[in-house]
Amino acid sequence: MAANKKLLVLPGDGIGPEVMRETRRVIDWMARRRSLSFEIEEGLVGGAAIEAEGAPISDATVARAKAADAVLFGSVGGPKWDGLPFEQRPELGILRLRKDLGLFANLRPAVVLDPLAEASSLKPDVVRGVDIMVVRETVGGVYFGEPRGVEKAPDGRRRGFDTQVYFEDEIARVARVAFDLARKRRNKVTSVEKANVMQSGRLWRAVVGEVHKAEYPDVQLENMYADNCAMQLCSRPAQFDVILGDNLFGDVLSDLAAALTGSLGMLPSATLGAVDPVTGKRHALYEPIHGSAPDIAGKGVANPCAQMLSFAMLLRWSFGFEEEARLVEQAVEKVLAGGLRTADIMQAGRARVGTSVMGEAVVREL
Ligand code: ATP
Ligand code: MG
Repeated sequence: MAANKKLLVLPGDGIGPEVMRETRRVIDWMARRRSLSFEIEEGLVGGAAIEAEGAPISDATVARAKAADAVLFGSVGGPKWDGLPFEQRPELGILRLRKDLGLFANLRPAVVLDPLAEASSLKPDVVRGVDIMVVRETVGGVYFGEPRGVEKAPDGRRRGFDTQVYFEDEIARVARVAFDLARKRRNKVTSVEKANVMQSGRLWRAVVGEVHKAEYPDVQLENMYADNCAMQLCSRPAQFDVILGDNLFGDVLSDLAAALTGSLGMLPSATLGAVDPVTGKRHALYEPIHGSAPDIAGKGVANPCAQMLSFAMLLRWSFGFEEEARLVEQAVEKVLAGGLRTADIMQAGRARVGTSVMGEAVVREL
């Protein structure tokens, strides 16, 4: 019997609650059949929290997230709240969680499951067997650097500017996440930057090299310019194991890697924070990479797999249940191999099913 773990479930808006309902079946199956003792709490976030509590996330929910061992997040937002001023938007719910939990490393696996190789935007032969983990820095870099703004220059022209700043410790801690992951995978990290034209890129390359030399000499490290990496991802994606990038390049390259796999509805993600030196606990949030998909919300057609696979990541990274994580992943693979498809991954000759049939099939496979 494993130690008591606390899980906070935040379904959110749109298809969030629909895919979470199916994932709850997987969670409950785990709790029951594998005798994993974890406490499950549910909370409100996004538009759902605005309606019920007057804010995109309440202080109480943030406190519960901090006390939990892991957060399983759905998605937030929708047309109903589009008119709200920025500080009141549903998206603030997730932004605040990331900030308050100090989540600095975003992990996005891009795995091409054999039955879905045909669904990729590239030729099946090029993507078959692709298994990439993109590690993106999420709290620093050009998205947050100061000064930034749009202003009138002395000559009267408007100018817009942002600042890319990284401190060495910010680079080192996300590099460690990538190297640790590589050790559990195929032992290779490709670190991307533009050290040829950016000063922050030079520092990035230097610090990643130092961490590598001092702490991870057994892992293969390759430095690659971000533009080259984009090209390589499209031409020879199977060469990559772990790709490490800053906030901007990581953002772009993880979306590109996602496109290789064919569907938004299949892809999970994790965002990890620092390890607390006292409790040894690492804050972490798991969510599908897709959004609330207002165009299909309420229709019962959303693919629940990305949310389920996010739970599998949670089992692996936050709870240390590797075997159970594999069980969930294998169940999803088997259901696909058996021919069931939601609309987003529909292929000729396959059976089109809705959210609950897909969810049921995965639980049956378990
Ligand atoms: P966000 O800004 O929150 O990232 P978005 O507008 O970029 O949201 P999504 O909400 O992810 O995008 O939806 C993009 C498209 O993919 C939509 O057409 C949506 O219906 C589809 N889609 C997203 N998730 C799923 C899913 N789980 N199953 C089926 N289709 C999906
Ligand atoms: Mg989006």
